[in-house]
Amino acid sequence: MRPAMLVVSLLATGLALAACAAPETARTAMTDRALGQTRYAIALHGGAGTIPKDTPAEKVAGYTEALAAALRLGESKLRAGERAADVAQAVVMALEDDPRFNAGRGAVFTSAGTNELDAAIMDGRTLRAGAVAGVSTVKNPIALARAVMDRTAHVMLAGAGAEALASEVGLERVEPGYFRTEERWEQLQRTKQRLAASAAADPMLDEFRSTVGCVVLDTHGDLAAATSTGGTTNKRPGRIGDTPIIGAGTYAANDACAVSGTGLGEQFIRHGVARDIADRVRYRGFTLSAAADQVVHGVLDANDGGVVAVSGTGEIAMPFNTAGMFRAAADWTGRFEVAIWDLPQPLPAKP
Ligand code: ASP
Repeated sequence: MRPAMLVVSLLATGLALAACAAPETARTAMTDRALGQTRYAIALHGGAGTIPKDTPAEKVAGYTEALAAALRLGESKLRAGERAADVAQAVVMALEDDPRFNAGRGAVFTSAGTNELDAAIMDGRTLRAGAVAGVSTVKNPIALARAVMDRTAHVMLAGAGAEALASEVGLERVEPGYFRTEERWEQLQRTKQRLAASAAADPMLDEFRSTVGCVVLDTHGDLAAATSTGGTTNKRPGRIGDTPIIGAGTYAANDACAVSGTGLGEQFIRHGVARDIADRVRYRGFTLSAAADQVVHGVLDANDGGVVAVSGTGEIAMPFNTAGMFRAAADWTGRFEVAIWDLPQPLPAKP
């Protein structure tokens, strides 16, 4: 064997051995390549909140299956080499169309009995971002956020101006009745009754938050984040939460991480949660898990919410400080899990 070949062969063997011995998180892009693997990671959430542990098994199974299906969709797109922003958008759109989640079809109601939806998407490679706030006739607000990112010189459009863009680019529109689900309507009635019964009742306490979001590291090494929500039950018309605020509920930058948040939006805005996590990674050198834990458990108050986040090395973090958070994660090492409370949920059989 020629010396150069020997070096290459020893290097490859060394890399392969190192990859086998090292924990998954310590593997590098170089060892992945030596093993013929392409690194990717994806995490998504369907909201953080109270989620009682005695939630009927059928309902839990429905959420688990919906999250697993969205994860499968995202993972198959990543394996096909699709770009991070396209994958995050597709996953969020699927969850927007599912009436179980408080985004798109299953949006919660304002105090006036209307639906006002917010969404945002961010591309970590270019730092381009698009967001919409307070839209009420667009079937998939995340697609409109994408149009803001790709087709305007702006980052955020609200209300009528955002809807005018939806007309311009030909996005699907719906009548207000499309967003009316009985479960969310009853949730509004219960909230109004609770507030009427006691002047001390917390107006922001929400029973079943289920905003959706997705963060992605694609096989090209790029990050993206996307989040979509109906907001909080009984919110004042015109209220805008953290979801469409870049740096609060949504953020992605290749030199740090991608983050999508869920919870009490006002708190996420006050603390700039997504950007704070990214800055702890970027400027203070914390691992993604450490940074996300510090912010969710040390900066936010108990019961404020949680995040899903992914780093450029494929590290995934999904901390929350509520009783539960609908979440799911997959990566190039074969990880594929769905969880609601502390432990992963038993997965439904693959179709
Ligand atoms: N963060 C969203 C908002 O405040 C709500 C949620 O995540 O459930 O609008």
